[in-house]
Amino acid sequence: MQIAKDTLALIGNTPLVRLKGPSEAAGCDIFGKCEFANPGASVKDRAALFIVEDAEERGLIQPGGTIVEGTAGNTGIGLALVANAKGYKTIIVMPETQSREKMDTLRALGAELVLVPAAPYSNPGHFVHTSRRIAEETPNAIWANQFDNIANRRAHIVTTAEEIWTQMEGRIDGFTCSAGTGGTLAGVGLGLKERDEKVRIALTDPHGAALYEYYAHGELKAEGTSVAEGIGQGRITANLEGAPVDTQYRVADEEGLEWVRRLLDEEGLCLGLSSGINVAGAVRLGRELGSGKRVATILCDTGFRYLSTLYNAEWLREKGLPIFPWLETN
Ligand code: PMP
Repeated sequence: MQIAKDTLALIGNTPLVRLKGPSEAAGCDIFGKCEFANPGASVKDRAALFIVEDAEERGLIQPGGTIVEGTAGNTGIGLALVANAKGYKTIIVMPETQSREKMDTLRALGAELVLVPAAPYSNPGHFVHTSRRIAEETPNAIWANQFDNIANRRAHIVTTAEEIWTQMEGRIDGFTCSAGTGGTLAGVGLGLKERDEKVRIALTDPHGAALYEYYAHGELKAEGTSVAEGIGQGRITANLEGAPVDTQYRVADEEGLEWVRRLLDEEGLCLGLSSGINVAGAVRLGRELGSGKRVATILCDTGFRYLSTLYNAEWLREKGLPIFPWLETN
């Protein structure tokens, strides 16, 4: 494709890159899907586009309507861009614990931003429930409902999985990623299994999430905490139902951050923490599969979204996390 037919056609068709350090560490080939190359700089542009187009096809949204969503930020950014391109408004509800950059970006894109205190899912003030209520109270509005709207994972069955399969010329032995809504994990997992059921699908869970225990022992149980934004799920969302997970890993923030540091320092890629955690999982999966195998993972978003957190010495010190050496002297 030389010239995109419109701006929405810029979503997806992201490059796949062989990651040198992770491949050496795993003893086989590790590939990263460059989702930071989407117009909204994250993997969530794909889900945003599919959710909005699904609502249009079902006649749920009219011209000039409003899209309401609760999000850690990236889905909101994707929705705001898609909405602008299609003539809709957006109201985005976000926990106030998310990065400053995501809030500033959403405001810059023209979304109406509603910040709520971080709360457990059982609390009616949780960002997801707040967004559903706002959608119900707003005329001509839809609730995107990314967690339980399976147009989300369909985006990954139809586009992400297909792209990875084609880019790797059908020679893929394993895939892993972490889960927020689970749309990427389930969608890419289902899409790849459809083409070759031998592809091993692994969940890579951060600490503080309940899915590792669920896939390992059948019980939703969380342990520890993580500062990673956008990942870490405590329930089986509709998107996760039937996800073909063969194996699972749990990765600490320190291990994910070490890959964020190395990928920037040694390979010139500036990523967020969920990408680092995914790469740590891909290295584990690669080691299990052995030499000559090929594993893919997702580089979910850009590190530019976390300059005030992951790339800020003071913030890292406050969280008791390791500081990239070059940040100490700047
Ligand atoms: N990484 C980041 C930075 C995200 O914002 C998200 C989306 N919440 C994910 C990973 C996980 O994607 P998914 O919702 O498809 O599980």
